[in-house]
Amino acid sequence: MNTPESRAGAVLTIDLAAIEDNYRLLQRRVGAAACAAVLKADAYGLGAAHVAPVLRRAGCRHFFVAHLEEGIALRRTLPAAQFADTQVFVLHGVPPGAEMDLLEHQLTPVLNSRQQLDAWRALARQLGRALPAIVQADTGMSRMGMPPAEVDAWLDSSDPFGGLALQYVMSHLAVADEPDHPMNGLQLARFAALRQRLGGIPGSLANSSGIFLGADYHFDLARPGVALYGANPQPGQPNPMRPVVTLQGRIVQTRRIAEGDYVGYALSYQAPGERTIATVSVGYADGWLRHLSNRGHVLVDGVRAPVVGRVSMDSITVDVTGIAPARVTPGALVDLLSADQTVDDVAALAGTIGYEILTSLGLRYHRRYTGA
Ligand SMILES: *Cc1c(COP(=O)(O)O)cnc(C)c1O
Repeated sequence: MNTPESRAGAVLTIDLAAIEDNYRLLQRRVGAAACAAVLKADAYGLGAAHVAPVLRRAGCRHFFVAHLEEGIALRRTLPAAQFADTQVFVLHGVPPGAEMDLLEHQLTPVLNSRQQLDAWRALARQLGRALPAIVQADTGMSRMGMPPAEVDAWLDSSDPFGGLALQYVMSHLAVADEPDHPMNGLQLARFAALRQRLGGIPGSLANSSGIFLGADYHFDLARPGVALYGANPQPGQPNPMRPVVTLQGRIVQTRRIAEGDYVGYALSYQAPGERTIATVSVGYADGWLRHLSNRGHVLVDGVRAPVVGRVSMDSITVDVTGIAPARVTPGALVDLLSADQTVDDVAALAGTIGYEILTSLGLRYHRRYTGA
């Protein structure tokens, strides 16, 4: 035990080649439109500094982050020479008073409100040149972007585009993962109408699931996130994406327990007979959500061993009865996330979505990047 990996309680493997393949698949899907990549929340927990260069190599020139600070961090990790042709867009736009920070770090804001729009244009006036921006309109989600009345007021104002080098108008879909939901068509119609009012400037509407709603939704720039990282953009249908993450946890110890013995906090599991229990060093502090107590399984050399008892902060307990003792010795690695139990599977068991499983992945894991 003499490397960080061999000492680690758990190993998270991130397959960069799979991310690259996923990007290329989405790029093909959107045809003539450009395909951006959403790298917010540190590339959904997988490490933006590792992911961005791989995506750039695959042809990606548009990156989205949520916070200004994420944009600054991303710019810092990208070699300036190589990424000069790459745009970094900040979804939350301009925080009050932070216009210069965006400019300094070559970040392009998504302007979400009249206030953000005016602040950005004030800086443009000061500098005497138009500044690049995306304008976001709310087409039905009431979360981010200008509501219709604000758009009207903006367009009715004098010289609405002064100071703006408007690159895209964008909006975000609320139920893209439910293709039959009537809100998709409604948002599409509202967005298309707005784009026409803006003189048919380039548009950006589709997230991962939106790409699969059809070519009508692609416009000029798609903004996939979660599908790049292997989650299924079409729930209920076969997943076209390659899995990206593998999570392995190390067995700390095993024990035999008798019929009637209990396992874990609150004694939520009682053995129906003699059992062998292995303790694995992954817990809720690592993002293995407590809601996964008594749910799901790990794979021991390809054999399923169910999780029994409560998820603790640093460990889970699994029933390895019947598995050869040599395979469950302390130090052995078992699979928690794999092709057999995907991010989406675990999300379903935990009553959440793949996004939350990915962004909860623990900082204690030893991270291994393959396929770069
Ligand atoms: C997070 C986000 C995306 C990416 O969504 P996915 O469902 O992960 O593809 C795209 N656009 C906006 C505005 C977002 O907030």
